[in-house]
Parts: sequence; structure tokens; C-alpha cells
Amino acid sequence: MHPVLSADHAGLDALLALARDTAAGHLAGLSRHPVGRGSHSEAPHRLSADGVGARAALEEFQTRFAAGLTGSAGPRYWGFVTGGSTPAALVGDWLASAYDQNAAGKTEPATAQVEREAITLLRDLLGLSDAHNGLFVSGATLSNVVGLALGRQWVGAQLGIDVAVQGVGALPSTPVFSGVAHASISKALSIIGLGRAALQAVPARPGRESVDLAALEDRLAALAGRPAIVVANAGTVNTGDFDDLAAIAALRERYPFWLHIDAAFGGFAACAPGHAHLVTGLDAADSLCVDAHKWLNVPYDSAMQFTRHKDLQAQVFQNSAAYLGALGDDPDALHLTPENSRRWRALPAWFTLKAYGAAGYRDIVERCCALAQDLGRRLADSADFELLAPVRLNVVCFTPTGEVTAERVAALLQRLRDGGEVFLTPTVYAGRPAIRAAFSNWRTTADDVSRAWAALTRAVDTANSNQ
Ligand SMILES: *Cc1c(COP(=O)(O)O)cnc(C)c1O
Repeated sequence: MHPVLSADHAGLDALLALARDTAAGHLAGLSRHPVGRGSHSEAPHRLSADGVGARAALEEFQTRFAAGLTGSAGPRYWGFVTGGSTPAALVGDWLASAYDQNAAGKTEPATAQVEREAITLLRDLLGLSDAHNGLFVSGATLSNVVGLALGRQWVGAQLGIDVAVQGVGALPSTPVFSGVAHASISKALSIIGLGRAALQAVPARPGRESVDLAALEDRLAALAGRPAIVVANAGTVNTGDFDDLAAIAALRERYPFWLHIDAAFGGFAACAPGHAHLVTGLDAADSLCVDAHKWLNVPYDSAMQFTRHKDLQAQVFQNSAAYLGALGDDPDALHLTPENSRRWRALPAWFTLKAYGAAGYRDIVERCCALAQDLGRRLADSADFELLAPVRLNVVCFTPTGEVTAERVAALLQRLRDGGEVFLTPTVYAGRPAIRAAFSNWRTTADDVSRAWAALTRAVDTANSNQ
């Protein structure tokens, strides 16, 4: 064995203790850590002949990289839709690396058992029936890829075409209807070969990001019985708006379509009785996308894909080979997911769901929604800002008053980032440059909203006095 590797092996306990201290130090200071930092522009170092050992690599990581990382796991990082890691999720994630199992199959039965149980806990949390089979993938984008690939297979089956065997070239062009779809839907359609142009935006209801049902029905009726795919959105990123899932599902009685629901973060509305009505009909999905590294607060990267059609999933993703054995009635994950070998992503999710249960997640979701309401009220009451949409869940969409350009929004966000107190991301809503704040971190408290509000009003004052 190489002497440096051998020395690290002999000193593993001390190394893990050092890594633990580094992690604990970072987490202890997380609420003071600047939320966003500048980009790294240093040229990458080249490989040296002799390694430095893990201890020196850790020192180099700390001096060169650690201080420049964002506080994205902290309580005032409200850009995109960003979660953190609960204590139990972090324990599970560390152990997933230490045990280093390949969660592809059932040769390590405990990995499959934990995944089945984590999925069961999630079905309970989200109010899904046992008809949904679920598996972990790397993120909501990949979950959307899986769901739409199943939709593609289903459309083919309606026409007597096995797309998994014959390819998308055998399919007539297949429309994919959606109201305000996430960008990853278009990406997913590119990956699975239906093409980005297959996505046909259906108008939203006036002043909303919720699809207009009559317009959707018109599109479906115009197909005169040809099968299609509908992507329903449960939680839009701009304003946290929801399609009427139950009403869309009911349209399947009259028109043949595959219903994929993107509930990446909105699915968690089910955890809070006051918001659960937003996801009535979620269970009716043929395929369903829910993210885990957002509101479930497990570390990157993790999401779930659910479906009622495991048979189609095995058709699309089977990976048969003599040494892998036959599929059987209960295929391994490697016959159901895009990966072959895969990380044990179920373990952090299992830990956090066991640790905090339904009441723990109800608290996280209700608190995030209450804090979003608090910020929304402050914005609505302020002469400096305009709230652009009612706060329905955990997303707040607003803009400064006066003449608002994309440049002015960018400058305001940059000042906030430089101040280090709160991280927000820009958007365009109803044609207007805007800002959005999304609450999905278990650490965020009322005090964080007060701190962020102080930073926001300071930043807008500076902007106004500079005009
Ligand atoms: C975040 C998000 C996605 C993509 O999720 P990743 O985990 O970043 O791949 C898809 N849909 C919605 C609604 C989202 O909020």
C-alpha cells in the first residue's frame, strides 16, 4: 500500500474526529455565516506526484475553499427553493458514506428494506396510497425524467408501440400540456426524446399560475382521442401556486392522458392541515415527483419518484443480463431507476422521518408558511415594496416600487448578498422583474425574518438614495 494511504488508514479515527470537528464548527456558526459569496476564479491546481495525505488536504480545503462557501444550509438562504439538513438526516447521510452500500439491488437486503420503509413513511407523510411505488433518485429533475419516460411508454402502449424497444421514432409526436411548468420539464423532454417542442403551455387562470381548466380541456378535446401527457404543477417556483389536481385527474374520465404531477416542494403542503387542501388529488397521479433536498431537509442530492405503474417502469428501466438474474414480480432498483449502482439515499430520509415523524414535519412546514406570511405582510404594508401575489404556501414574490428594471433588481440583490444577511433570487413575474423568497429550511425562525427585513429595507433605502 502507498505509504500515505497506509498512514491515513492507520490514523482513520483521528481523521474522522477532525472531519467531525470541522463540520460541527461550520454548523455551529451557520447562522452567522455569510449567505452568499463571490465566485472562485483560481485556476485548478494540477495533480502532484506525491499526495499530501488527508490531514493536509483538509487543511488546504479549509484555507482555500471552506470560508468561501455559501450559507445555503442556513436559515436565511431563501433563494431558489433550498433546504438544509436536519440533525438526523445528517447522521444518516454520514452513515450512508461510511457503510458505502450499493443500493441497486437486494443482495444487501437491509438497503432495500430501508428504502421500502422510507418510501412507506413518505407515503404516510404525503397522504399517498399504497398503490404508489416509490424509489429515490438524485433530484426532482431526474424524478421528472422518470415520470415522463413512464408517460412516454404509456402513450406508446395506447398505440400498440413499445417505445422502450422501438424508440421514440416509432411514436407520432406527443403533446405534453402544462400550465406553468418548471424548467426541468422541458429539460426532461429533451432527455427522453419527446423534445422540448412537445411542451405546450396552456394559459393560466387570470392573475394566477394555476392552469385554466377549460383551456386544458379544449386542448385535450382537440386531440380527438389521441393519447397525451399532462404535467400538473403543485407548487410553482414564482408564487407557490397550485393546479386543481383533482379536477385535472377527473378529466381522465373523458380524455386519454398520462397525469404527471410535479410536486417537488408543494407536495409537503400535505403535512400541514391548513394547507393540505392545495394537494387534494395528489394521489391520483400516474407519476409523481417530490424533492427531498428541499422541504424534507436531507442533504443533496435526493428526491423521490412515485408511480402507480411499476410494470411500465420495469419496461423502461430494466437492465437484464445473465449475471443480474431474472426480473421477477418485484424487480430490484436497478431495473426501475436510471442508475445501475446507486447511493443509499434512502438512509438520510429514513433517519429524519423516524426522528421527527408527522408532527416534526408539520412544524417545519407550518413554521415556514407562517414566516412567509409574515414577510408577505411586511412587504404589503411597506411603501418601498409591492407584493406581487398572495402568499399561498412558502414562496413570497415581490418587487420594489417605482421604475423597476432587471438591472435595478440585480443591484438590490447584489447589495443584499454583499451584506451577507439574506440570499434571494430574481425572477420575472407577469412580465415584471421581481424577487422571490422561498422558505424551506427547518432552521428558519421569526428572528431570521426580522434580520432579513432589516437588511432588505436598508438595501432598498440605499438604492433609493442613489437614484
Ligand atoms: C426544484 C424544482 C425542480 C427541480 O429540482 P432539482 O432537485 O433541482 O432537480 C423541479 N420542479 C420544481 C417545481 C422544483 O421546485
